[in-house]
Amino acid sequence: MRKLFTSFISVLMVFGLMTPVSADGGNTIVKNGNQITITISSAHPDVEFFLNDSGEDVIVRFATGEPNETVVDADDEVIFTTNGNIMDGDFSVNFNDNLRNLPEPVTLNITLNNFKILNNDAYYFSTWNHSKFNQINVNMTLIGENEISVGGTWQGRNALNVPAGSTYKIGGNGSIKLTGTYAIASGGTVYVTDEAKLAEGSSPISNVTLYNHSNNDSWGKKIELNSIAFVDANKELNVGDDYQSQINYEPSDIPDDEKTVTYASSNEEVATVDTNGLVSATKEGKTTITATSTIDPNIKATCEITVVNKVYSVSVTPSKITLPTVKEGYDPQDPEYITIKNTGNQTILLEDHGANPWLIITLDKNTLKPNEEAKVSIKLKDGLSAETRSTLKGFITYTSEDGNYRDHARFEVTYEVRHDMKYVEAKDATHLEDGNIAYWYCEYCDKYFKDGAGRNEFTLKDLIIPKLTEHTADGSGWHSDETSHWNTCECGEKINEAVHTYAWVTDKEATATETGLKHEECSICGHVKEAVEIPVLEDTEVQTPETSDTGIVGVYVSLLSASALLLFVLKRKYKKIG
Ligand SMILES: [Zn+2]
Ligand SMILES: [Zn+2]
Ligand SMILES: [Zn+2]
Repeated sequence: MRKLFTSFISVLMVFGLMTPVSADGGNTIVKNGNQITITISSAHPDVEFFLNDSGEDVIVRFATGEPNETVVDADDEVIFTTNGNIMDGDFSVNFNDNLRNLPEPVTLNITLNNFKILNNDAYYFSTWNHSKFNQINVNMTLIGENEISVGGTWQGRNALNVPAGSTYKIGGNGSIKLTGTYAIASGGTVYVTDEAKLAEGSSPISNVTLYNHSNNDSWGKKIELNSIAFVDANKELNVGDDYQSQINYEPSDIPDDEKTVTYASSNEEVATVDTNGLVSATKEGKTTITATSTIDPNIKATCEITVVNKVYSVSVTPSKITLPTVKEGYDPQDPEYITIKNTGNQTILLEDHGANPWLIITLDKNTLKPNEEAKVSIKLKDGLSAETRSTLKGFITYTSEDGNYRDHARFEVTYEVRHDMKYVEAKDATHLEDGNIAYWYCEYCDKYFKDGAGRNEFTLKDLIIPKLTEHTADGSGWHSDETSHWNTCECGEKINEAVHTYAWVTDKEATATETGLKHEECSICGHVKEAVEIPVLEDTEVQTPETSDTGIVGVYVSLLSASALLLFVLKRKYKKIG
């Protein structure tokens, strides 16, 4: 008791306990990741939060000098647990006075897990004062089975005191038993999750903002189901439709496990209902779906289902169209048309086609009664490039008049936008000019392609053959004078210059009575010297009446078995004689 009084100013939060319970030692502070678990099993295990010497870290430790102390970081969760045991003796949690002027705000996330404080009129559970330490925020969560039972007030303060700006969460799947005299200070908030339960025998909580609970008064007493109702009491369905029905429970904050009903359909030929309330319409007619509470079979709700047979359908003619092929930069086109006919038994509404990147689609009417038709005009947008797609799956959405039915009239549009191609022939590079490989060029796109269809683009760099670094014959053939021949390079330079390599060519053989004719000709460039006469043959030379190169050579070869070298020599010799 004395300890509590002396720490009156500096104590932010005090947990009090007087009921003695068996517990010996085992008080520990264990940090694991960002979870600090403070287990209290014995008497007098006062805990304090204080600023360390460097003035930077908040430390939590046992005030009685037990060894495990640890730094509390901003995102740590501090869990107090008694392991379900009732604490024994005098216990407090102090916020040291040096925490008044923290350099930075600190949020303490404190969880009470299986925390038990039993009835005593002098002890309390409070954060009444920590709001004066304006750099400290305390979030409190209770999980497991906690029991805080306080018989009275102490120093004018209530037992469960949540200052403005603080948050207590009674959450998780735990429960809390609050008895005795306690209150929530004005401005405080207690969040109570759906899973948390206020144990039986608790006193009502007042002046509290409750999360997920609409009726504060319901705390502390059992909530009972009053009635159920379908969200839609009447529903029209089409043959083949499924409809998920929904039930409202009154009051809405009954426990989830009490929000259960069974379903039945009065005419299963018209519509069936499954255990989850999913209604399936099968035939025209009427049926009543009944939901019955499994908690109280006297509580029922009904939904009247009317099944109709509305047919929504269209035909599209033709369903595929081909627009005229165009070249890039084309002039505006005439449209092609398709017809949409309402082939169902209900009026339908055609939706105007939204922005389409490639096509201009317009409708001559939007409302179609059964058997009526709409004319749809389709043409290419202006200025499309050849690189747009060539086939489009288009559709026009149609709906029922009430908008509940929605489907598409589908069609396919094929078109082609071609590049404005020019073929450029291959050209060899010369010493003066770049050459190029053959390519196609589209002036509209300013792009180069390997093919006329424009499938394979390539860069200007890829198609250029750089001009030659050395002189190269320019293709004008051999040039010659009396003694030599040469080629020319485009730059004017003479190259490959050499003297002619002449060989004799016989224009006309000489005979015994007539002279022949022969001339010298360059075997490289074909330069021809003036012809000279071959004298008439003398008698001794006319040995073989019919002579020819091969004939004579053949005789020599067979006679002498000459080597190739010899043959060459002989041949030369013969020619000279001839
Ligand atoms: Zn192009
Ligand atoms: Zn040259
Ligand atoms: Zn020559």
